[in-house]
Amino acid sequence: MRIIMLGAPGAGKGTQAKKIADKYGIPHISTGDIFRANIKAGTELGKKAKAYMDQGALVPDELVVDLVADRVKQPDCEKGYVLDGFPRTIPQAESLDQVLSSMGQEIGFAINVEVPDEHIVRRMSGRRACVGCGATYHVVHAPSKKEGVCDRCGEPLILRDDDKPETVEKRLSVYHEQTQPLIDYYSGKGCLKEVDGTKDMEEVFTDICAILGE
Ligand code: ADP
Ligand code: AMP
Repeated sequence: MRIIMLGAPGAGKGTQAKKIADKYGIPHISTGDIFRANIKAGTELGKKAKAYMDQGALVPDELVVDLVADRVKQPDCEKGYVLDGFPRTIPQAESLDQVLSSMGQEIGFAINVEVPDEHIVRRMSGRRACVGCGATYHVVHAPSKKEGVCDRCGEPLILRDDDKPETVEKRLSVYHEQTQPLIDYYSGKGCLKEVDGTKDMEEVFTDICAILGE
């Protein structure tokens, strides 16, 4: 089961991708998480990516394409995976197609989590991320048990720099310009599925499970 999550920043891709990964026993591959882990570890890749991420811009395709190509070839991806935050441009989607076709594989489902822009800014200002394990919360919709502290690892929760309203506006315009065209791309391939991401998290997940099957 090879799945791509599509949708604006803050639409709930990560939230749903984690639930899908748990239920179907496949890895959750988030390029944003991979970049943040590299930033934390102080790697060269992290240093390069940070400059783009802080501005709400996309990291250049060449820094992300090989990384994902290597990841989907790992043994734990044999049964499938859920890609979250990749592809984000048409060239990334084309590269992924090439990698998959060289392995005799294809994407099964591209799930577009639809949330209008006006909801996004509100959602992002309430998102909190753990500095330790990267778990995400929402101050209203998915609060941690103890305010400001991660339920899983006890580390502090922060508002990501790129979730500040001015950067979110920029990320949304980048999304519309560079990522939204992927909806037509996957529709043309016949694997696009749409879900209403304004519903409650559990309802969105029920709708996704109905698409993926038991
Ligand atoms: P993305 O991965 O698409 O950037 P997230 O999954 O991190 O988005 O969700 C963004 C924020 O919105 C998080 O704080 C998350 O807890 C919250 N959230 C996710 N899905 C919903 C939903 N259906 N309703 C309300 N809040 C949600
Ligand atoms: P995310 O956690 O998916 O919201 O990603 C956070 C940031 O990481 C984005 O705003 C981009 O700067 C960068 N990023 C993540 N995935 C990609 C990608 N596939 N292509 C380019 N940039 C990416």
